[in-house]
Amino acid sequence: MIAMAEYIWIDGAKPTQKLRSKTKMVEIKAPKDVVLRDFPDWGFDGSSTYQAEGHSSDLMLKPVNFCKDPLRGEGNFLVLCEVFNSDETPHISNTRATLRRVLDLGAAKEESWFGFEQEYTLFQGRTPLGWPDGGYPAPQGPFYCGVGADEVFGRELVNEHAQACLDAGLMIYGINAEVMPGQWEYQIGYRGVETESADPLTTSDHNWMARWLLYRLGEEFNITATLHPKPIRGDWNGAGQHTNFSTKAMRSPETGKKTIDDAISKLQKKHAEHIAVYGAGLSERLTGLHETCAIDQFRSGPSDRGASIRIPLAVSRQGYGYLEDRRPGANADPYEIASRILKTICEIE
Ligand code: ADP
Ligand code: MN
Ligand code: MN
Ligand code: MN
Repeated sequence: MIAMAEYIWIDGAKPTQKLRSKTKMVEIKAPKDVVLRDFPDWGFDGSSTYQAEGHSSDLMLKPVNFCKDPLRGEGNFLVLCEVFNSDETPHISNTRATLRRVLDLGAAKEESWFGFEQEYTLFQGRTPLGWPDGGYPAPQGPFYCGVGADEVFGRELVNEHAQACLDAGLMIYGINAEVMPGQWEYQIGYRGVETESADPLTTSDHNWMARWLLYRLGEEFNITATLHPKPIRGDWNGAGQHTNFSTKAMRSPETGKKTIDDAISKLQKKHAEHIAVYGAGLSERLTGLHETCAIDQFRSGPSDRGASIRIPLAVSRQGYGYLEDRRPGANADPYEIASRILKTICEIE
């Protein structure tokens, strides 16, 4: 069987890396048992993706994860790749390789699970979806988790995206309409399914593939999704990527509370290092208003949505579980978020 395999990679754009993809026809020898090795290495022109100079621009694509392609349908695949230089070293833009290194340096033994709350804003042209042309909608209030044609905009695309993630086999956890009209969220990662691994690499891979599906489905609706952390200035919520995470010790009733407290004090000491990799333009969003803590402050607390680190209600009640880092922007790179958190928790530099 010949499959259409969409090879997806992350480019070298600054300050925020973007997704690229192209299609390779790949022979699948055993369609009932497709494995990563079915997808050969490939190459591309790095001078067109901000990853190389013109004179020696061939870079390598190495498949590292794949899922079903829910848009092309049965027998086709999305293939996530890492970018390598011609000498087989990871390209400087390859942040997944950094996360692999952090895991190898000792973080893997923590058996951490991640869950990303990916917020995004839908636009039609220069206007957020559902906003009057050149004007503003009613003030924020009724839109979060709202229902009704006057309150939510883009649900058809959002639902199709959720279904596409499920069909692909990605670990989507839920979706909700957000506080600003036209803004939405999907959560991806840990969802309590025993056969799944919410390890940092898999979870971050899934968020990148879910982002690709969102942009790709937007083409069908002529709607663009943006991950800008503050798409509209003023009294409107920004878009974040709350990152929930736990280690095995945090999830244990015996060690949970102490491990969570220790983690918070380690995170506090490294606040600036975290802010540095939590996405471009973060200061526009972390103002201290709109459910954020100001960028130069660090606060933590149970159920506190104005904190940097929030301990969810169920976790503070039972005394163990996970943490929510509310600082990352919607446009942050999940590999960089996970690397930074693990480096801090495991004291790796
Ligand atoms: P919020 O109340 O902050 O909006 P959501 O319901 O949107 O929270 O998202 C909850 C997130 O917590 C999900 O991304 C889920 O994967 C994550 N999560 C739940 N339990 C754990 C855990 N034990 N370890 C890591 N992440 C977790
Ligand atoms: Mn949420
Ligand atoms: Mn949210
Ligand atoms: Mn949250």
